[in-house]
Amino acid sequence: MKIDVLTLFPEMFEGVFGSSILKKAKEEGHVSYQAVDFREYTTNKHKKVDDYPYGGGAGMVLSPQPIFDAVDDLKQQNETSSPRVIMLCPQGECYTQAKAEELAKEEHLILLCGHYEGYDERVRKHLVTDEISIGDYVLTGGELGAMVIADSVTRLLPNVLGNEESAVTDSFSTGLLEHPQYTRPAEFRGMEVPDVLLSGHHANIERWRKKESLKRTLERRPDLLEERELTVEEERLLEEIKREQ
Ligand code: SAM
Repeated sequence: MKIDVLTLFPEMFEGVFGSSILKKAKEEGHVSYQAVDFREYTTNKHKKVDDYPYGGGAGMVLSPQPIFDAVDDLKQQNETSSPRVIMLCPQGECYTQAKAEELAKEEHLILLCGHYEGYDERVRKHLVTDEISIGDYVLTGGELGAMVIADSVTRLLPNVLGNEESAVTDSFSTGLLEHPQYTRPAEFRGMEVPDVLLSGHHANIERWRKKESLKRTLERRPDLLEERELTVEEERLLEEIKREQ
């Protein structure tokens, strides 16, 4: 996969693309990242990429020209792919694990980071394939959102995570929140690890995990349970949880 980011602050990505699992994924050839300063594409002689909004009002708006030209150039550099052009935008669809899984199947993503008051509407209408928000709050720029997408998509690519970091049981991947985790010591400051996890009885451990996962989801994100088709075992466990409460 290739992930290109169009930003006015490419230096912000050095830490994220150069650390941890993203760095390893890049070194092992699973993904390549490029942070491109779209100011380099402006035809304005003062290197401006923004202008006053038509109709007046506060703030500046990103001009269409540098963004259209930058995307055209990235498309030309990768003629064989048809990229998803993703606008980071607080008005976009709310980002979810399901969306990360969908994007992880693509060959090429172009992530567009806005700034100031946002983009000229023609970018939204005629250039992008997706508009993504990372939550109901407003950031100064799209860079943090682009990092969120790059990270969450990269860890889903084949062979990126080793067994010890597996994504299979992560919260949301299963449609539920993950069960509680414990590690050594078995007792710490009087706080004990549940006996079942020390029992070595795999079927009981699996049942406990599934039940805890359902319990946690019921307490914290009941909306996820409404969206999920439960198995017979899950229905039974859920009834047990409700009886116990
Ligand atoms: N005036 C815009 C509005 O009200 O919708 C907000 C512009 S915001 C200050 C500047 C840029 O930050 C946006 O163009 C977008 O790229 C990014 N941004 C802000 N909040 C975001 C969010 N929740 N998710 C994704 N990107 C966001």
